[in-house]
Amino acid sequence: MPSIYVHIPFCKQKCTYCDFTSFPNKLNFAEAYMACLYREVKERGRMLAKKKFDTVYIGGGTPSIVDPKYILGLMRQIRASFALSPDAEVTIEMNPGTVTKEKIALYGRAGINRFSVGLQTANDALLAEIGRIHTVSDFIACADLLKGKNFSADVMLGLKGQTKEDVKATIDLVHKKGATHVSMYALTPEDGTPIYTDYLNGELPDEDEVAELYDYGRGLLKKYGYMRYEVSNFCMPGYGSRHNLNYWKRGEYIGLGVSASSFIDGKRFTNTFDLDEYMKCVLSGFFPVIESEDVSGEDAKFEFVMLAMRTVFGVSEKEYKRQFGSEWREDFAEAYERTKDYLEEKDGIVRIKDEYLYVQNRILTEYMKS
Ligand code: SF4
Repeated sequence: MPSIYVHIPFCKQKCTYCDFTSFPNKLNFAEAYMACLYREVKERGRMLAKKKFDTVYIGGGTPSIVDPKYILGLMRQIRASFALSPDAEVTIEMNPGTVTKEKIALYGRAGINRFSVGLQTANDALLAEIGRIHTVSDFIACADLLKGKNFSADVMLGLKGQTKEDVKATIDLVHKKGATHVSMYALTPEDGTPIYTDYLNGELPDEDEVAELYDYGRGLLKKYGYMRYEVSNFCMPGYGSRHNLNYWKRGEYIGLGVSASSFIDGKRFTNTFDLDEYMKCVLSGFFPVIESEDVSGEDAKFEFVMLAMRTVFGVSEKEYKRQFGSEWREDFAEAYERTKDYLEEKDGIVRIKDEYLYVQNRILTEYMKS
């Protein structure tokens, strides 16, 4: 079933590694932005009236920085405009430095039933180094407010001087505080971000060192009972993110808000990244789309394989045939030959062997050449 993604682009300050669409010091635009967002929700809902949606993900930016009344209003507008399943998974991203008891209570009234908390590391010096606005104590206070709720914590690898002890302290903490889900991902130094200079200066751990931290973290998470279901995502049994799983199954989704992208009826399209342009467009009665492409034929097949191979669920030969009418083994015969030592097969499912999942990009490059 399709998903809904909503982008809230405001942050208190910019983290040194961030290249997401997020605006520090523009919180005064929040009211106008949310009014435009409600309007976009309404219009898109009208257009997609025949589809039933199963998940909502409110991401950013820092959605928890805006007045929670806007999140309540947003969810009301979404429910009024889209056919949303009664048991929909509704997630909000939160920065631990912006959370209060009142906000969590209002999120509950809005029907939010999953929380994604950006911890990154349980090391205050490293948090300050990467420009996060919160401390480890803020995370602990936030996790205490979320006690007994379904929440995920982000753990970042590849920070300057990061050690296995840091990774252990971080994973120990998220486990102790009851996270049902952990996203553990490697920092990608993007050109144009302040951290890119550290990367060019050779101050960040290299690929092999990060892989070592990842293996170490993966072992710890396993010991605590978190199952890896995608290269960067781990969950307690039954707590996989339905929203993300829909992406990896190449399911449809509608993206709302500045910079949000969508995949509906075989078409991928993206909203403008410019805040003013977004608002002007919506207020003039247009969808703020800047790019759109039909994804079909070989591109669609490659997307299917690439997304499925990121997960432990792998490529279902039956599902591939149902969607494309051909055999994946024939369509990707050469790539399969080149990569078969890294793959395992059971009951019509082909997946990357556990020990190679972290280097899946290198394996998937072979499929791109097919
Ligand atoms: S909180 Fe997230 S979106 Fe905001 S600047 Fe930091 S990394 Fe970027």
